[in-house]
Amino acid sequence: MISHDVIIVGAGAAGMFAAAVCAERAPGQSILVLERQSEPLGKVRISGGGRCNLTHACTDIRTFAQNYPRGSSELIGPFHQFGPTETMEWFEAHDVPLVTLEDGCVFPQSDRSESVIDALQTAAENGHLETVFRATVVSVSRLHSTGTDGDWSGFQVEVADGRQFVCRKLLIATGGGALIDGLDHTIEPCVPSLFTFKTSDSAFTALAGIVEDEVRLSAPGLRAEGTLLITHGGISGPAALRLSSFGARVLAEDHYCFAMKINWLPSSSEQEVFEQMESFRAASPRKQVGTWSPMGLSVRLWKLLVCRAGVDPHRAWGDCPLKALRHIAAQVSGFELPITGKNPHREEFVTCGGIRLKEVNFKTMESRLHPGLFFAGEILDIDALTGGFNLQAAWTTGYIAAQQLG
Ligand SMILES: Cc1cc2nc3c(=O)[nH]c(=O)nc-3n(C[C@H](O)[C@H](O)[C@H](O)COP(=O)(O)OP(=O)(O)OC[C@H]3O[C@@H](n4cnc5c(N)ncnc54)[C@H](O)[C@@H]3O)c2cc1C
Repeated sequence: MISHDVIIVGAGAAGMFAAAVCAERAPGQSILVLERQSEPLGKVRISGGGRCNLTHACTDIRTFAQNYPRGSSELIGPFHQFGPTETMEWFEAHDVPLVTLEDGCVFPQSDRSESVIDALQTAAENGHLETVFRATVVSVSRLHSTGTDGDWSGFQVEVADGRQFVCRKLLIATGGGALIDGLDHTIEPCVPSLFTFKTSDSAFTALAGIVEDEVRLSAPGLRAEGTLLITHGGISGPAALRLSSFGARVLAEDHYCFAMKINWLPSSSEQEVFEQMESFRAASPRKQVGTWSPMGLSVRLWKLLVCRAGVDPHRAWGDCPLKALRHIAAQVSGFELPITGKNPHREEFVTCGGIRLKEVNFKTMESRLHPGLFFAGEILDIDALTGGFNLQAAWTTGYIAAQQLG
């Protein structure tokens, strides 16, 4: 059986970054990477539509961490050690010039994920690294021996074809949903995160293409604000994605069927919306209720809200009783949309779930159950909103683990 100082299972973002950092810190260490595919960094290659949104520029770590529905408090310490600024410095120092877009998303200047892949592979090759592809790790077990030259403890790693490898320190970085026997850790169930919503309301989806900024979505126990896009099937946009991500577990329990409330003007209370309409009615009594949207909402959407309030859209504002204005205000502040399912967000498939965070020491990424065993990346019960945050969690946890491996 061949023995290595370090075995890394999974040549994805977290595993390869850990290998690269470890190789540069301790080039004498023998590192073996076991990867089930025939090439490394498959997801990084397709990330960000092939451009790789590798992090998100933000210097305030607490604000940054708010983008992680699972893992936000655990990641604050790690981000102070190696956060988005350090990530950008690392890639720039490894010949990957970066650009930061207006929304904070950071990409390689080349606009190609290959630049990121090349940098990681070149850095990893600095060390005493061997990678075995088409090697699916199926189980790990602890080894302990007492000999004349002292105690030795480590791990035995078994691959699907029967090959076995031994190491002193083991990093598991197999991404979301990958299970390996013998890990003996609690796994939080995996459910999708980051998706868009379907609705059966055809009058609503007939408004496809409308975008409203600063909308508030609510579902039982959940709330999210931001831009909303009405699609042919339902709703999408940052507010919908945020709700899906923060509500991933409860929404799965409800089988993605629930009544969503949309507040189209959350900066005003329902009473304030009513009072504003009263003054519009006084100022423009002859205008038609359904064809003039007084508060900046799209006219087509406004007409639907008026109809849902039971008010004839052809009516003049001046002919609308106060009760009708109250009904419209109720639709503006609490439009009810039946949600009947979910759709994936573009091709980006993110799951929540994984190794229970309490069982890992986030100062080192070491298992609290087995000394010498480390975790990094999506295998942990960590996931984030879109914008470079998911890869940042992989770089950060990979970096911290690497400090202990080398
Ligand atoms: C289409 C798409 C686009 C994305 N775009 C972005 C983006 O632009 N920005 C962003 O921040 N995030 C993005 N993400 C999310 C991001 O890619 C992941 O969060 C990140 O890759 C997680 O890194 P990881 O190393 O933990 O897992 P992975 O990258 O999934 O790597 C895990 C590796 O382990 C290997 N493996 C699994 N099981 C075993 C086993 N038993 N034995 C051996 N090897 C094994 C896998 O083959 C894989 O190579 C995107 C995701 C997808 C699917």
